[in-house]
Amino acid sequence: MCRHLGWLGAPRSLGELVLRPEHGLLVQSYRPRRQRHGLLNADGWGVGFYPAQRPEPARWRSSRPLWGDASFASVAPAISSSCVLAAVRSATAGMPIDETATAPFSDGRWLVSHNGRVDRSVLGPHPAAESVCDSALLAAHLFDFGPARLGEFIAGVAARDPAARLNLLVTDGQRMLATRWNDTLSVLRAGDGVVLASEPFDPRFGAGMRELVGVAHAHLRSALDYTLLIPSKETGIRRFCLWAIGLAVLTLRKIEHNPRFTAGAQVKVTRSAVAMTRLLTNVAGRSDGALRLLFAQAARGLPLARLSDLRRARPAPPNLDQATVGEPEHALRRSYGNTGS
Ligand code: GLN
Repeated sequence: MCRHLGWLGAPRSLGELVLRPEHGLLVQSYRPRRQRHGLLNADGWGVGFYPAQRPEPARWRSSRPLWGDASFASVAPAISSSCVLAAVRSATAGMPIDETATAPFSDGRWLVSHNGRVDRSVLGPHPAAESVCDSALLAAHLFDFGPARLGEFIAGVAARDPAARLNLLVTDGQRMLATRWNDTLSVLRAGDGVVLASEPFDPRFGAGMRELVGVAHAHLRSALDYTLLIPSKETGIRRFCLWAIGLAVLTLRKIEHNPRFTAGAQVKVTRSAVAMTRLLTNVAGRSDGALRLLFAQAARGLPLARLSDLRRARPAPPNLDQATVGEPEHALRRSYGNTGS
């Protein structure tokens, strides 16, 4: 499994983002810490970035190990961008090792990086794929499908290839989307931007998971509010929603206790907890008050984000050390510059 990283915020140099961090992509190319497939990422590297005054990204890729590239090391500190997508590669068995098989892949304004593997036969051929590599093919299909509909695309591919690992970073220079599907994803909100990465490159990432739990918790509260709008005599559909909400809260508790989990099995709720959730939601299913109480009890102690804060534009604070972290699960809209989102 390769490793990748995305930056969206105030301009940062490629050196600062890729080479300098204590446990950045350079170190991850020879000593990844959380990688479960492959020991090294020595089959190439790639960086995509958006030069000022140009909407399309520029790419610099190579099929050699990042640690041996003296030219990149010398030029990287001199190239800065407000949006960067970088990757180091550990080729999947049978895939070619050359520059065209290395992320990021691009089409117009879009850049895509893929950590993982996918069965090429479920994707089908694509005339515009840069390489026969599974990731290049996946990217070509995503470009056709519409990169902004990433979640839908991934769900469709995963349904056709349940063994696929589909961890993507996708950007058009203004926003960055990420999926985690069978691997880790870390988030760091710096004062002047956001980093999304396969694994943390410094200790400040730790706070990211807590903030993500807070965001998910807030969304689950909204889900409960919506569910309680369903008339109480519609017990079937109410129960169906309530079980899902109950199990999601219990999973958040597990994540909160084990924020460094690397596989779903490590934060799976027990069978007895599932049975208890079904029982309690069935018993309390018609009473809004009892259900709210149950939810409050199950979510006790979990961090809670204010969704309105997440949607509001943030002024850029002066420096990176005020960093804390987090943003919703799969989509980060740029809240700097003139988008006003
Ligand atoms: N399958 C892709 C490749 O061969 C990505 C590999 C990975 O994530 N290790 O390049």
